[in-house]
Amino acid sequence: MSYVDEVIDLIVKENPDEPEFHQAVKEVLESLRVVIEANEDQYRKDALLERLVNPERQLKFRVPWVDDEGQVQVNTGYRVQFNSAIGPYKGGLRFHPSVNVGIIKFLGFEQIFKNSLTGLPIGGGKGGSNFDPKGKSDREIMAFCQSFMTELCKYIGADTDVPAGDIGVGGREIGYLYGQYKRIRGLSEGVLTGKGLSFGGSLARTEATGYGLLYFADAMLRANGESFEGKTVVVSGAGNVAIYAIEKAIQLGAKPVTCSDSTGWIYDPEGIDVELLKEIKEVKRARLTEYAAARDSAEYHEGRGVWSIKCDVALPCATQNELHLEDAKMLVENGTIAVAEGANMPTTLEATNYLIDNGILFAPGKASNAGGVATSALEMSQNSQRLSWTFEEVDAKLKDIMENIFANADRAAKEYGFEKNYVVGANIAGFEKVVDAMNAQGIV
Ligand code: NDP
Repeated sequence: MSYVDEVIDLIVKENPDEPEFHQAVKEVLESLRVVIEANEDQYRKDALLERLVNPERQLKFRVPWVDDEGQVQVNTGYRVQFNSAIGPYKGGLRFHPSVNVGIIKFLGFEQIFKNSLTGLPIGGGKGGSNFDPKGKSDREIMAFCQSFMTELCKYIGADTDVPAGDIGVGGREIGYLYGQYKRIRGLSEGVLTGKGLSFGGSLARTEATGYGLLYFADAMLRANGESFEGKTVVVSGAGNVAIYAIEKAIQLGAKPVTCSDSTGWIYDPEGIDVELLKEIKEVKRARLTEYAAARDSAEYHEGRGVWSIKCDVALPCATQNELHLEDAKMLVENGTIAVAEGANMPTTLEATNYLIDNGILFAPGKASNAGGVATSALEMSQNSQRLSWTFEEVDAKLKDIMENIFANADRAAKEYGFEKNYVVGANIAGFEKVVDAMNAQGIV
């Protein structure tokens, strides 16, 4: 049996009930097969893959807090410190009822390669909780964040592990988490990114993932003789990534016509009004029905369905496994030329393969959504220097980083005979650097 298959089998056997983690490991190792097989004896002797797929450390802890009725609630907190070969663990915290150890491990594993691709000195980690922030009062959110950080603060630090936001963790939550860290540890340091601008946050961090996605997708389109000018774009999600992907798409001359949340979706053939969307989602924290109520041109539909709308470019920006094989078939039939992932692993493996096999330009999330973590690393640099760069400086660095990530993925794909397969290209480019760092540091 090949080394890749052996390690995939091992992961499935040793981590039952973690399908998302299996999926991520399979996707990465399958696409690295050509590189691994060329070095199989050495990698096997060094147990390189076993070391790569097993987190360095995995923390699971109780998070008790008191709700507004005086009832004590108990959630579970996680932090998976996956790989620190390149630098301090770096990766977001997700607060969502679906969170479990398998989801956090899948995200942490992907994060290693994403962070490597940015070219910045950051290792891979991820964390979160099955806490559901929806419908909670500000006081409840604060109580939960303080309890979560009371435990987490023992394991993180500006030079060891630097968490950030993810689904359900935005500026408000990062503020409460940071306040509690500082209170317990007595340190004003860059231990979290995505902080408010008044206490060490970076300009352009809010916009970074969505803008970065468009910079990457634009580089991919241009390398293939296309551009965003005049294109119709379909977007899923209505959160941080989706909103700023829509904003940058408009700036690049495209027309985004959809967005969605976990209850329904909007089709606005006149083009999404991004200021209205921000008002509803960022300020009022309301449902998308309010968007349709405020805009005559918009239709609201219950459930899922954005991929049925004819488009040139599709940007899945909500959550994992939200673009299935039947959706991929609709996109191909509708003449879509590119799919670029804003979310982490939003496209199932079958759908990804179908899109690539049908000649669709496909940008994998670990490359195309790396703008968030890249800008987080820029926030770490600013914190270390005790300086704040301007929006334009950060945005220019972000654009540069995303174009470099595309160039590296493109180069690696060509070098190994997989031209235009940016999934393979991104995985190889990210893997090469991690392996180099791991080898240099010995068996640790
Ligand atoms: P947000 O919480 O801001 O937004 C998530 C959006 O997706 C919301 O509109 C939410 O709807 C929707 N959504 C969440 N879960 C589901 C579900 N199960 N079914 C349908 N819709 C769902 O998160 P972000 O925008 O920050 O993150 C989106 C994705 O991007 C995630 O995969 C995240 O890991 C990834 N990502 C984020 C980065 C960042 O910097 N923010 C960086 C890199 C990746 P509702 O409000 O109804 O729940």
